[in-house]
Amino acid sequence: MNKKTTGVVWLREDFRTTKNDALIYASKNHENICALYIYKKKEFQNRSAQRWWLFQSLKNFQNKLDKVNISLEVIESESYKEVFEKILKKENFSIYWNRIYEPQFLSFDQKISNSLKSKNINFKIFKGNLLNEAHEIKKNDSTPFKVFTPFWKTAEKFYLDKGFQRSEKIKPKNKKIKFLSQSIKLETILPEKKWSKKFEKLWTPSEDEAIKNIKKFIKNELSDYGKNRDIPGINGTSKISPYLAFGQIHVETIWEECQAIQNKSQGYRKYINELGWREFSHSLINYFPEMLKGNLRKDFDKFPWEVNTKHLKIWKKGMTGYPIVDAGMRELHETGWMHNRVRMITASFLVKHLRIHWKEGEKFFRNCLLDFNEANNVAGWQWVAGCGADAAPYFRIFNPILQGEKFDPSGEYVKKWVPELINLPKEFIHKPWELDKDIKNFELGTSYPKPIVNHVVARNAALAAFQKIKKISI
Ligand SMILES: Cc1cc2nc3c(=O)[nH]c(=O)nc-3n(C[C@H](O)[C@H](O)[C@H](O)COP(=O)(O)OP(=O)(O)OC[C@H]3O[C@@H](n4cnc5c(N)ncnc54)[C@H](O)[C@@H]3O)c2cc1C
Repeated sequence: MNKKTTGVVWLREDFRTTKNDALIYASKNHENICALYIYKKKEFQNRSAQRWWLFQSLKNFQNKLDKVNISLEVIESESYKEVFEKILKKENFSIYWNRIYEPQFLSFDQKISNSLKSKNINFKIFKGNLLNEAHEIKKNDSTPFKVFTPFWKTAEKFYLDKGFQRSEKIKPKNKKIKFLSQSIKLETILPEKKWSKKFEKLWTPSEDEAIKNIKKFIKNELSDYGKNRDIPGINGTSKISPYLAFGQIHVETIWEECQAIQNKSQGYRKYINELGWREFSHSLINYFPEMLKGNLRKDFDKFPWEVNTKHLKIWKKGMTGYPIVDAGMRELHETGWMHNRVRMITASFLVKHLRIHWKEGEKFFRNCLLDFNEANNVAGWQWVAGCGADAAPYFRIFNPILQGEKFDPSGEYVKKWVPELINLPKEFIHKPWELDKDIKNFELGTSYPKPIVNHVVARNAALAAFQKIKKISI
């Protein structure tokens, strides 16, 4: 390879300089490099919250790359192929990128590799943001795992056995160059709705912030993560998910930061396991790509889902009359993030109490979550619905009252997001309809809705619907 040729780095979900193999390799092997981001507007139409995160990420990363004399061009196109056709018309360049572990991305990598090879263009595709490559972990008989615990036992050992650590740093360049010179104005990426403005006070989408946050979490919260991770009213989890989704941090960096601590507490073990669930989801969607479109367990194709736009709208708005459900949905709207325990409760309420198809919830989360990730979202929804791998059985139906009382006993979380209930005594905070005395400024049905469904009736209807489908194993 000739160092004088331009090194082009195709950025996707990797807005970082640490453990960004494609970027670091290009900076070491070329005198001049340019980073490209291809913005697919249509793809982000249903990911409104992430348009805000993407805009901020591009802006912050552009500033960071500026300091090492690398320009970042943002090209708008609905088709990677179309942009590559333009790239292929250029001369004297090499191109690099990191993998994204989703079937459509991996299949594009394969196709474009063939074109680049046929045109004798130098290119290299590097490992992406997982501990292991998505297809590396298999059972002894070469079939994929469908159960988390044995998957993770094998995957963790596999990763540890590799035992490598990459600590190379990006090499600054002497001058900035342009490559396609067709950059769009970043502001066009921002969602039209002003609700994303609220995120500005809560999040800073940059690599520096990701590293700062994870270090702080490990120092202050990790040891108690085991017991605190289920309590939505406290800051018990790392909130690193949006940074992982956009690659402001590599999961190996999180892993290494965790390994560096002296006292490997139960909290440490639990946290590492959660990173394992992320690996598992990515493994699943790559071995079973059909689950991106429908139920992994085919018996669920016959499930008698309800089509009820009124109920769906009420759920989205956080007006179901079940405080813990409504608090979760409002946290999502206000912050672009929702606590994992409450994701399970709200999702379960939609698919079991309301019997609305999990795909509706998946779509809504995709639009509202800053950390939306194809693998984790679809696996999360199918886990809750009971139609995924190693899923919660459909007949185990979360009781939103008991879940609230167990995980938000003082009602702090509910009061934060559902301020209508602020004056309620804690014994009624998760079941305001049982209130037996007058409370100032509170009237059920006026200041806060009555429950849209009765828990017992809804539970029985869900179980009856479940009886209608024949069980087959995946
Ligand atoms: C219905 C539903 C939808 C979900 N959609 C998404 C999504 O779109 N994007 C997303 O990143 N996560 C999703 N999750 C998983 C989980 O809720 C979030 O990863 C977690 O809440 C993020 O917060 P955190 O970074 O503080 O997590 P922490 O508890 O601090 O965990 C650290 C990291 O481990 C990973 N992780 C934790 N729990 C899970 C899990 N159950 N499955 C997979 N990875 C996990 C995440 O990368 C997370 O950032 C979903 C879960 C459910 C039940």
